[in-house]
Amino acid sequence: MTDKVFDYYLEGKTGRWEVIIGLEVHAQVTSNAKLFSSSSTKFGSDPNSQVSLVDAAMPGMLPVINKYCVEQAVKTGLGLKAKINKLSKFDRKNYFYADLPQGYQISQFKFPIVGEGKVILDMPYGSKEVGIERLHLEQDAGKSLHDQDPQNSFVDLNRSGVALMEIVGKPELRSPEEVGQYVKKLRSIMRYLNTCDGNMDEGSLRADVNVSVRKVGSRNLGTRCEIKNVNSIKFMQQAIEYEAKRQIEILEEGGAIDQETRLFDTKKMETRSMRSKEDAHDYRYFPDPDLLPLELDQDYIEAIKKSLPELPDEKKTRLMNDFGLSSYDASIIISDQEISSYYEQVAKNSDYKLAANWMIVELFGVLNKDNKEIKDSPVTAKNLSKLINLIKDNTISGKIAKIVFEDMINGNQDPEEIINKKGLKQQSDPKELEKIIDKIVQSNLDKVEQYKSGKDKLFSFFVGQAMKETQGKGNPKLINDILKEKLK
Ligand code: MN
Repeated sequence: MTDKVFDYYLEGKTGRWEVIIGLEVHAQVTSNAKLFSSSSTKFGSDPNSQVSLVDAAMPGMLPVINKYCVEQAVKTGLGLKAKINKLSKFDRKNYFYADLPQGYQISQFKFPIVGEGKVILDMPYGSKEVGIERLHLEQDAGKSLHDQDPQNSFVDLNRSGVALMEIVGKPELRSPEEVGQYVKKLRSIMRYLNTCDGNMDEGSLRADVNVSVRKVGSRNLGTRCEIKNVNSIKFMQQAIEYEAKRQIEILEEGGAIDQETRLFDTKKMETRSMRSKEDAHDYRYFPDPDLLPLELDQDYIEAIKKSLPELPDEKKTRLMNDFGLSSYDASIIISDQEISSYYEQVAKNSDYKLAANWMIVELFGVLNKDNKEIKDSPVTAKNLSKLINLIKDNTISGKIAKIVFEDMINGNQDPEEIINKKGLKQQSDPKELEKIIDKIVQSNLDKVEQYKSGKDKLFSFFVGQAMKETQGKGNPKLINDILKEKLK
């Protein structure tokens, strides 16, 4: 359901501009070994401690394809509802750089392993489908180290040859927010599938961001610039905003955009030209003669399909159907597998809707503040469901529950114990409450008069007094009922 219209446009001197964004995401395949060698992919090891003769491109060495990486790419393709190509081929993408000892990167050019697919974004204005152009397998390069020595640069080849999935999206994103959702959704799908850990700090997920602008109403695409290797969602969003404004300024002054590769300087918060963009023919792609075409049969693909776990979109639909969750609540809960399994444990034993509210508002409030993940939650799913049940059966009010919850955050105790120890049980004896209310009425006869002569707002004054008298433990519904009777 759409209750808010899409409204991301940039206002220029000559009118409104639309921003067109397409992402090429590089996702490191979760695998113990590299794409064409058996070297370890472990992150953070000593430089050059995980380099085989193949990774170092010694003469005469031959690449051997890692079957598991192929399976991971197929899985990811299926997760993106994409076409799996039964025939794909590896090509050499030729360029020279110190961190690329082969002088070429083995990649897939004309025949990628995965074809067109899609990703669904949950935006405040409704869900939006974004097309995937392709997914291909390729090797990562090594890493140049320029900050270790005043005179020399060094190279670490540990990353050389690690398997990457390059996921090329269609230029269908229209705002920094959509880009954020897109990357989060891709990451969530791959984490569900366990095909990429999505750890952006370690560079397991990074993107080249293509940006162009056009006047609102125009159908033609403008010349784009590619911002290389951005490794955080926030940086992607900042880079897009800067870059779109830069292009609009040039165009409005009668200039033209050069198609080029740029980098985002996160300190100066600006994009800078790196080099004019090369076209595919600059790389002299040709089939790698050391590798046979990759042929997959239908049974193989079907077997992988059968092994897939429930994915975010399916889980979202199920939570909405089974638990009556709103699209918004459901999209938060499915964003991470551990969050959704926590939710299901809570909801299964208590109230579905209260479970979602307590998790999203109270629990995430605390976790986000402390920068903690759900797996570090000081409150277990079992105790949260207990707390919700205590609200449901009127043992405590929602307000008191927040006090109990705070104690739980600080020590992960059983909510029932906290309530007993602190005497927080809701006061629900009508006779007791009546006594208290009679006393309040007697000592506030002037206000009773005013109320009776039409000052309706005073009702909440009496409720407040009753709550104060009961130290917040009075059953709010009973208090309301009794007061209405007494003040008639
Ligand atoms: Mn690439």
